[in-house]
Amino acid sequence: LGEPFIKAKNIINTFENHGFEAYFVGGSVRDYLLDIPIGDVDIATNAKPDEMLKLFKRTVPVGIEHGTVIIIDNGHDFEVTTYRTEGDYEDFRRPDSVEFVTDLKLDLSRRDFTINAMAMNMNGEVIDPYDGQSHLKERMIHTVGLAKDRFSEDALRMLRAIRFASQLDFNISNDVSAAIHQYKDLLSKIAVERIQAELFKMFKGAGVQRGLSSLEKTKLDQALPLFNYEPNLVSKLKAHVIDLIEYPSVVIAALTLLSDHHFFDDWIKTYKISNQIKKGAILLINSLNHYNQKGVNEELLYKLGESQFRPFIEIVHVMTGECLELKALTMQYEQLPIHSRGDLAISGHDIMSMFPNMSKGRWIGEYLEQVERLVLLKQISNNHKDIESEVKRWKELDIN
Ligand code: ATP
Ligand code: MG
Repeated sequence: LGEPFIKAKNIINTFENHGFEAYFVGGSVRDYLLDIPIGDVDIATNAKPDEMLKLFKRTVPVGIEHGTVIIIDNGHDFEVTTYRTEGDYEDFRRPDSVEFVTDLKLDLSRRDFTINAMAMNMNGEVIDPYDGQSHLKERMIHTVGLAKDRFSEDALRMLRAIRFASQLDFNISNDVSAAIHQYKDLLSKIAVERIQAELFKMFKGAGVQRGLSSLEKTKLDQALPLFNYEPNLVSKLKAHVIDLIEYPSVVIAALTLLSDHHFFDDWIKTYKISNQIKKGAILLINSLNHYNQKGVNEELLYKLGESQFRPFIEIVHVMTGECLELKALTMQYEQLPIHSRGDLAISGHDIMSMFPNMSKGRWIGEYLEQVERLVLLKQISNNHKDIESEVKRWKELDIN
């Protein structure tokens, strides 16, 4: 077994030495069998949450009522969940209640897709009651049980099916597609935060074209905010998003640029997009605009900052098809005389003290901005004396 599983060895052993079962479950087993990099390793056990708290020194009871405890061992933390089944779903999303059970197979039966419903022990033995392994080989997304039952229990699973098809580059089975088409409107019952997270993961998948085609084919897009007002948005995305999009801010920028008549602030709010992503998207949109007019120049690189080069390269690729090189941008960036206002040889305070008779005001910021621009463009050099005499000259001109 790979490194992430070995790290959990101690925890699994502790459970077993006390007469409990403990298995790896879900995404880590799937990704291990696919031989792709493993994300979080989740563990399921027949021990109840209170028994876990007794068994381990360092725990965080993150969701006791759902059976979930984080166990910290040797600097690594693992989410461990008691085997459970879910009660009735009255609202098409979360179950009304969960029930702890003693049979691993019952726990696997509540899971969404067959490829996500496998368990594995420390010896690499796989428990696979729903043919997950053959579906991995066939590269197919099938639900555990009837798709329409599973989607009417929890409507998010429809979007998850499409997300996994994109993430893994798998096909969606016909009955899953048909059930999505039939139940698509139930997606409106789901919290936008969860929808947002699945959408970003879909865009980040190597099979993003496949994901977009499935959205189109099943018409699930018509149950998504923004998309529901823009019947052609997915087909425009298909024409532009050839490769996966890694950054959420790029997704938001692309959606903004490809959708025509929607108030940015409104749909951003509807999706509850974080301020950080929103700010990132606005910077990208402005930068792309600058790029389209003037190409890559000092001002563009400076305003972006090195941390935004990768997202910028992505949005340029999506919107223009051009491929900018990170290395070229970085090299140009390194040549800039300054990289932030803090690098200036002069501060707002310095400017103020040059003119002791002037009162504070907007002029200081304006001067500083002008200094910043000229230093960046190498029209004045970044030393205190040169800047000071330049600023004094401006003041003369201003007064006269
Ligand atoms: P990844 O971490 O790569 O996104 P994952 O399979 O770990 O993939 P998670 O969303 O982290 O996906 O969920 C962990 C596991 O919990 C899934 O593999 C699945 O077994 C189960 N699961 C998650 N969400 C649902 C759901 N809405 N309905 C049923 N089972 C679910
Ligand atoms: Mg996961």
